Amino acid sequence: MTGGRTVVVSGASSGIGRAVAARFALDGDHVVNLDVAKPDGEVPGVRWIDVDVADWDAVGEAVAAVRESTGRLDVVIANAGISIRHGVLELTEAEARRTLDVNLMGVLALWRHAAGHMVRQGHGVLLATASVNGSRGYPLYADYNASKAGVASLCQTFAMELSPVVRTACVTPGAVLTPMQEAEYTPAMLDEVNARIPARRHALPEEIAAAFHYLASDGARFITGQELVVDGGETAGA
Ligand code: NAD
Repeated sequence: MTGGRTVVVSGASSGIGRAVAARFALDGDHVVNLDVAKPDGEVPGVRWIDVDVADWDAVGEAVAAVRESTGRLDVVIANAGISIRHGVLELTEAEARRTLDVNLMGVLALWRHAAGHMVRQGHGVLLATASVNGSRGYPLYADYNASKAGVASLCQTFAMELSPVVRTACVTPGAVLTPMQEAEYTPAMLDEVNARIPARRHALPEEIAAAFHYLASDGARFITGQELVVDGGETAGA
């Protein structure tokens, strides 16, 4: 069933999250964006709540408020994330903690708070944005890589504990053309990345949104605890 569901997406003011929110809103779902930043342009049908996903209690309050106002909580997508490019010898405690607080604790907080409501209502789908970085040692992203490996692990454990009432899954993108990527990569670096992807390009945010849309649908009802890799073949030969 699509349309009329309550869908929460974190980090939907920009990039992948914005495309995900727009895709569900297109179906007529009630979409709520939890983000620290004001949305980058209005998306019809998407409501913004100013929340830092690293703030455990604030996430719990936001999720409870959404559940209260719409009377349901069908799909929750933990997508908000940050990445700071630095070698392990330059890494500071503050930067590493912030990456883990947002990318890993932020997913745990959102899923943990949503799970209680979903178990009580008898159904729900918990999704998150992982990354191909989570399964490999990409240089200059030690804390980011570790945070994404943690997200894949959460996906497995939540599935083991909450099935068959609640399903979980991650979309695991390779390179996606978003403000996050454009902020860190020069055009020459983007070309270099494209050369090692069999599809020879970055994904568009809409292509990642399509994977989330599928995983949230009844067509994916037998998928739980798994990652869906959407990387243009980047990891196929690894
Ligand atoms: P983006 O920077 O365009 O969007 C990230 C969004 O998250 C922004 O709206 C930002 O305000 C929000 N956000 C950041 N910190 C937050 C916090 N503490 N609380 C609430 N919101 C917060 O980046 P993107 O590329 O769209 O990334 C989205 C997700 O996709 C991230 O988890 C990222 O790690 C993952 N990802 C991105 C790529 C890529 O190549 N772009 C690849 C794999 C995975």
